[in-house]
Amino acid sequence: MSISNKINEIKDLTRIERIGAHSHITGLGIDDTLEPREVSQGMVGQIAARKAAGIILQMIKEGKIAGRAILIGGEPGTGKTAIAMGLAKSLGKQTPFTAIAASEIFSLEMSKTEALTQAFRKSIGVKIKEETEIIQGEVVDIQIDRPSTGAGVKVGKLTLKTTSMDAMYDLGNKMIESLTKEKVQNGDIVRIDKATGKVTKLGRSISRLREHEVSGNKVNFIECPDGEIQQRREDEHTVSLHEIDVINSRAQGFFALFAGDIGEIKSEVREQINQKVAEWKEEGKAEIVPGVLFIDEVHMLDIECFSFLNRALEDDMAPILIMATNRGNTTIRGTDYKAPHGIPLDLLDRLLIISTTPYTEKDIHKILKIRCDEEDVDIQEEALTLLTKIGVETSLRYSIHLITSASLVCAKRKGTQVSVDDIKKVYDLFVDVKRSVKYLKDYQDEFLYNDNGNNTMSVE
Ligand code: ATP
Repeated sequence: MSISNKINEIKDLTRIERIGAHSHITGLGIDDTLEPREVSQGMVGQIAARKAAGIILQMIKEGKIAGRAILIGGEPGTGKTAIAMGLAKSLGKQTPFTAIAASEIFSLEMSKTEALTQAFRKSIGVKIKEETEIIQGEVVDIQIDRPSTGAGVKVGKLTLKTTSMDAMYDLGNKMIESLTKEKVQNGDIVRIDKATGKVTKLGRSISRLREHEVSGNKVNFIECPDGEIQQRREDEHTVSLHEIDVINSRAQGFFALFAGDIGEIKSEVREQINQKVAEWKEEGKAEIVPGVLFIDEVHMLDIECFSFLNRALEDDMAPILIMATNRGNTTIRGTDYKAPHGIPLDLLDRLLIISTTPYTEKDIHKILKIRCDEEDVDIQEEALTLLTKIGVETSLRYSIHLITSASLVCAKRKGTQVSVDDIKKVYDLFVDVKRSVKYLKDYQDEFLYNDNGNNTMSVE
């Protein structure tokens, strides 16, 4: 394969990532006074909801909101997920953010409460401060003991061993890798960065050189008989409680991280970890960073899950819970009772509720323009106006979907700008929900098992 092909392939891969449904959103688009800008960071309109989200962001940053819950309610396609994404992006990489759809909880591999516990613990960060050192000296002993203890090197009088704590950062692997790569032996003078596990061979020690006859000056020799600390510094790493659980629930330590499938974690393991983390906190070695857990389509949870959430939110180490739903009054799953958004009243009572409202034509126009730019689609103004009209009459999502297909139609006719005709073509090819239902209604007598009941969700 030629280099240019390879480059194209890489470009394609990044493009696929770039044009995810919310890839244009880079924040909440608010200024320092928490006032939303009309169009900013990929966000358009929805001013009241963004302002509320901005206040929540501020509360999270000030550490005032751990263990609270927020509900974003609104019609489909009104930007509930977009706002949660914007909030997550504004929090920065150091704050853990986990997003799940409520239906993911109902997996066959683990119980509902285990799945929720894992989601909670993925959303709690532990910022660990560690003193790290760069050590230089003569290697006296090397142990590479996979997989239980990782690696150990005795440099002068100092022994550097990767423990399960260190293993979290993949340190053991790195140390094993560079010890092997550099073919380190007893008598070598090495430099080891304790934070990264990187071992650099500097040469042989003078005493060893005297033992072995070495001709010429091909081998560097260095006088450094004892292990010496060359440099000290404090490093900070944030890992989630779930990551610590995973590592410690497997005897083989850090190798479990790469195994993927981890199943259920014993409650004793979690208790021990909570205790350990509390100790680190007490000793000033660690800080708890409450992150955000986003549960989309929360009405899909059942009464047991809701009761779990109620209790879990009381925990000292609870993350901020953000839920979204597009349902109004509906049955609480697992019961015969109806409740607003399908959520039990005791949980509803602790929520801060943000609502999103349907978009105006102007907003839809701006969002579609942003999406065209995001997908590198050049579109004629009249075509964008038509797409906006379609968005108003059908849904924002449907018109967003038409962008990609219209640009393909345009490319096929070797055009450079998406035209009104391209939009018309894809509008005929892909029907929206209303037309699809109408089509089925018109022809339902011809379908064998038609259902004329009234028990359906409305799309009007
Ligand atoms: P559902 O109830 O169906 O889950 P939703 O309310 O979560 O819908 P989103 O998925 O957030 O809706 O929005 C649909 C699309 O429109 C997404 O691609 C989203 O990024 C985009 N979008 C929605 N609102 C905005 C906005 N205010 N600014 C920019 N893009 C937006």
